[in-house]
Amino acid sequence: MTNLEPLLDLQECDRALDRLRHRRATLPERGAVVDATTQVAALTGEADDVRARHDGVASEERRLDHEAQGIAAQAASAEQKLYSGEISSPKELQALQADVESLRRHQRSVEDRQLATMEQREPLDVRLAELEAGRGAAEAGLAAALDALTANEAAVDTEIAAGTDARAEVAARISGEMLSTYERCREKGNGVGAARLVGGTCQGCHLSVPSTEVDAIRRAPADQVSYCDNCGCILVLTS
Ligand SMILES: [Zn+2]
Repeated sequence: MTNLEPLLDLQECDRALDRLRHRRATLPERGAVVDATTQVAALTGEADDVRARHDGVASEERRLDHEAQGIAAQAASAEQKLYSGEISSPKELQALQADVESLRRHQRSVEDRQLATMEQREPLDVRLAELEAGRGAAEAGLAAALDALTANEAAVDTEIAAGTDARAEVAARISGEMLSTYERCREKGNGVGAARLVGGTCQGCHLSVPSTEVDAIRRAPADQVSYCDNCGCILVLTS
């Protein structure tokens, strides 16, 4: 029998590497990063909506303020004319007085609308500040989750590098031909390329191998490799 024991060592190395790769892919920090990213996106979206409404209201508020100032200036100039003594005709004075009153009424009405707009804007200011603070906290949480993920990935990567070196050492003891046979079996056998045959049971798939088969394997020439009919792995007999 060819010494197939190194294949079992290789199988152990590959199992360990598979576990490490699985651990890397399913690090809990990965979920935390996804959650934090979703949270940041949701808060950003909501803040953008509120900001758009806020900006619309604030712009209307500024427009009304500008309009009120314009009317106030007109009213002031009319008042100045009214009290300047330049106009003596009572009819004209009366008409000018009516203009001033009309302008002041218009000014008050615009100022009332401006006030109503301000009252609309204030709760939006508060909500926007809350959302910005929430987003700041969520972004900090995301950064922390990313840092934790990176650190844990690096820790697993160190283990993977060590495992890969250990595997290379074991693989160096196996012929190239046997290595490719093992790789093929491992691909087909769901990660199991070689397993020990113990008491008529393949340790790769834990199914029994018929006793006639086991006998045939025992009697096989030294250079012949036997495979499990169930999982396809290379069977290694206990010597
Ligand atoms: Zn098997």
